[in-house]
Amino acid sequence: MIFSVAIDGPAGAGKSTIAKIVGEKFNLMYINTGAMYRAVTLKAMNANISENNVDGLIKLVKSLEMHFEEDHIIVNNEDLTDMINMPVISNNVSKYAAVPEIREILVDLQQDIAKKYNVIMDGRDIGTVVLKDALFKFYLTASGEKRAQRRYEELIAKGLQVDYNTILNDIIKRDYSDTHRAVNPLTKAKDAIEIDSSNLDIDGVVQVITLRMNSEIINNKSSI
Ligand code: C5P
Repeated sequence: MIFSVAIDGPAGAGKSTIAKIVGEKFNLMYINTGAMYRAVTLKAMNANISENNVDGLIKLVKSLEMHFEEDHIIVNNEDLTDMINMPVISNNVSKYAAVPEIREILVDLQQDIAKKYNVIMDGRDIGTVVLKDALFKFYLTASGEKRAQRRYEELIAKGLQVDYNTILNDIIKRDYSDTHRAVNPLTKAKDAIEIDSSNLDIDGVVQVITLRMNSEIINNKSSI
């Protein structure tokens, strides 16, 4: 691991938007691990492989070459970015992400990337499992209603017809399964800095993170 930043938190807390901006500021490769679980979900659903068919899933995941180009996820040469953000994937991803064998393969891949590049990685288990030794760990939260409102506006802006209450229910369900699953559940790393973004906009959160990182860098904890 060279220089790494871990950003964890529940669905809709703004992790990916913030990680992207901070990554650009500090010249770090942005890795959206949620997109990797979503891509596996999309491929599995397309191939009619259920979350209980572990052998089928292992075979499938091993057949996928995944990499990122900027904030796009490319899987076997196909850009899946738009497709993986559809509500049907959001509603099913936690089931597939709870399969330990899938997690093992994806965590290995994420750790391999972090050995080669300076990264900012967002997800659910980055500070606790994937990058336990990350130089910086942040845990972003916001109320369920705030997160649902943001997701709703995001999807409406993309031209999708969605319902606020359905999104809120999905977020509540996803929070529950992400925090209660047996393997690598979402939890704040002991050494992570928690930021509640309920009353902060994107710029506000970016500012808090940037100040924190700059002061550590200036105090010579690390250098990029
Ligand atoms: O971050 P995003 O909401 O796109 O993640 C989608 C889902 O992928 C999460 O709800 C969670 O079930 C799973 N995930 C995970 N571990 C990660 C990143 C995402 O289990 N590191």
